[in-house]
Parts: sequence; structure tokens; C-alpha cells
Amino acid sequence: MNSPTDTRPEDFSSRPRPKYGLGVDLIGAEEEALVLDVLRRRDLFRYYGSNPAQPPPMVARLEQEFRAFLGVEHALAVTSGTAALEVALAAAGVGPGDEVIVPAWSWISCLTAIVRVGARPVLAEIDDSLNLDPAEIDRLATPRTRAVLVIHFQGVAAEMDRIVAAAQPRGIVVIEDCAQSLGVRYRGRPVGAWGDLATFSFQHNKVATAGEGGMVVTRVSRYYERAVRLHDLGNYRAYHATLVPATEPAFAGGQYRMGELTGAVALAQLRKVEAMRAHCHRLQSRILAQIAGLPGLPVRRIPDPEGDFGYEIYLLATDPAQVPALKERLRARQVNVGPVTGTAPQYAYPQVRSGLAHTPAASPFRADQPWPAPGYRPEDFPRTEALAPRCLALPIGVLYTEADADWIATSVRAVHQELFG
Ligand SMILES: *Cc1c(COP(=O)(O)O)cnc(C)c1O
Repeated sequence: MNSPTDTRPEDFSSRPRPKYGLGVDLIGAEEEALVLDVLRRRDLFRYYGSNPAQPPPMVARLEQEFRAFLGVEHALAVTSGTAALEVALAAAGVGPGDEVIVPAWSWISCLTAIVRVGARPVLAEIDDSLNLDPAEIDRLATPRTRAVLVIHFQGVAAEMDRIVAAAQPRGIVVIEDCAQSLGVRYRGRPVGAWGDLATFSFQHNKVATAGEGGMVVTRVSRYYERAVRLHDLGNYRAYHATLVPATEPAFAGGQYRMGELTGAVALAQLRKVEAMRAHCHRLQSRILAQIAGLPGLPVRRIPDPEGDFGYEIYLLATDPAQVPALKERLRARQVNVGPVTGTAPQYAYPQVRSGLAHTPAASPFRADQPWPAPGYRPEDFPRTEALAPRCLALPIGVLYTEADADWIATSVRAVHQELFG
């Protein structure tokens, strides 16, 4: 052990650093079998293929199992989580003149999707759960507020009961972005089953992955039909009509259809989500039990500790100045550190600092002079600004062992002792 005056980290380089990953680290025989099945039938397109009597099964099966997994009526596979957000917003009728409340702290897709449908993102503060502070809905709602986009940040559910209770009386549509939280529950109900619509991603570093891919789910038949039309050029094919009869006229949509190869990988991965969650949650509980109550080093608040995924612990150092040294010393002990996704405050991304859409007339910020206007500057978010530099993320992968978990806990305690003494 170092003496109090000698704070050089010890040499731990001989301990192997655990490999971090979620679904990607479990790709194996199940994915291979389903992909081979697609290739051998030569059915790469979801709607028709080699045998007219037997439509290609993978994407349809993925949607079916996804519905059952969440207990939600409708699911539509798309090309990415970002496409899912654009489709969900547009399916709910969000467009020019509308405002969408969205937490200031999340992935950039959440903001770009709102801008892409022509609406105005209204940024909200997060709280010590690193999710949307539900009280922000009351503060920010205006007659133009059409929707709230809730992000379940890194495997921890937002407080959906309070959010729905604040949004519903005002007629605000609740859209859940579950890209980082497939398999998470809040008060016994899966995330994605609380709101009017929800979106998921199968991008490389998400819980279940197919490299790229996404899903839109909804309880509302009309939103489902509109989402189908939006993702397929305004078409509504016979397959979807067997699930929900068409009632809407055709309108111009985009093309975000998922292919069968992607569907095959995503399907095999979906079947592994429960096991992944059980593993990560168990290891996280093991670590949290050992690092609880360290002075100056609280952890992220988890509103429902039973239901969270557990693939990333967030330490929230009360003094942000300690974070760089904490990171450096944990890395020296072969502990993986750092958020797995590139999350930042929305107002810090160059896409927001420019205030631009693909053409000036399409930007919801075009009349806001000077830019950045109030509501889009760091000083408008004192609580988010105070929290962001306090964060230190400790990922927990699906290949981590109990010994890895104990080493992480031991290391956090040791480094805390060195630095906070
Ligand atoms: C990854 C992610 C997305 C976008 O998903 P892609 O499939 O990469 O387009 C959207 N929202 C959140 C919160 C994400 O983490």
C-alpha cells in the first residue's frame, strides 16, 4: 500500500483487463444458424422472396417476439434507432410549429430526429438519476408542446409514472427512447410499454445488436399504421393490413425497411437479453454493495433498483476536480472506465451550436437571433452542467466474471482511500 504522502499508483499491469461488450460479445451459433437460414433461402428482403407461398420470416418473427417481450400491441422494425425516432415522432404527427421536450443530456439522435421532422427541441434538465427530471414537463410545457421524448439513459429507467402523470393531462404524447435500455423494467413494467410510442436500437454497442437496426413500438393502432407508411414510402402492404386494417390515406414517407439478414441477427440477440440483464444486474449489485457510502463518491440514483440493467455504474464524485485522477488510477488498475456511448449535453454538439438544418428554412431555430438563444446555452442548465463533469462510468460487460466485479469494487475502494484518504 502507498503511504499517504506517496500517491503514485501501484503497478497492476499484469492483471488482464476484462473485455467490455454487451450483445456483440455473445454472437455465436444462434445468430449463425438464423443468418444461414436466410442465405440458403436467398430471401434477403422482408416482404417477398423465393417462395410466394411462404413470405420471409425473420423480420416478421423479430417484430412478433418483440411485441411479446414488451407486452405491447405493435412493433415495427426499421433501419436504425435514429430512424425509429424520426418515424415515431412523425407517426405521432409531430411537425413544424410543434415543440418536443427532451433532456439536455443524451445522444445527439434525440435532438436531430426532432429537427428532422421540423419541430423544435425544448431542452430539459436531468436530475441525479441522469434522466429527465419529471418536474421539467410542468416548467417547459407550452400550448405548442406536442410530445416529450424520454431517454432511459444507460440501462436505468426514467420515472415513467411521474412523467406520464405530468404529460397525459396536457395531451402531450410520451415517446420513450429505449435505445440504451432494452430489457429494463420500471415498477414491474418494461420500458417501452409506458409511453404512447417507444424506440429501440440494434447498433453495435447496444444491448442487442445487429450492427445497425431499430424498432418502433406502440399501443396505438393509428400510430402503427402511420409508422408503417412512414418507413415504406407511404405504402401499407398486405402483411401489415392483416395485423391492423388501414384507415389512413397514403402520404409521402421515407424508406427505412429492415432487411432479413439484420432481422435474423437481431432476433437471435433478442432471445439473449434476459440472460444478459440477469448477469449484469447481479454483478452490479455485487459491486454496489461494496462501494456504497464512500464519502465524496456517491453513485447515480436508480429510481427502481430491481428493474435496471446494470451494465454501467455511474460514480458521481461530489468534487469534479477529482474525476481525472480517479479515472487514471482506475485505468492503471486495469479497470475499464468511461461511458460506452458518447453522451454530452445537447447544447455542446456542433449540430446544435450551428443551429442549422439541411437548409436554413428547415431549421426550427431560424428566427432565434442571436444563436445560441436562451434555452440552448450551457448557462441555462445549471443542474445538468453541475452533474456532467461529476460522472465517472464503470461499464460491466456480459463477459465479466464475479472476480472482475470484486476487483472493480476493491479498486474503487483503494483509489478512494488514496485520493480522499
Ligand atoms: C444509440 C442511440 C440512438 C440511435 O440509435 P442508432 O441505431 O445508432 O441510430 C438514439 N438514442 C439513444 C439514446 C441512443 O443511445
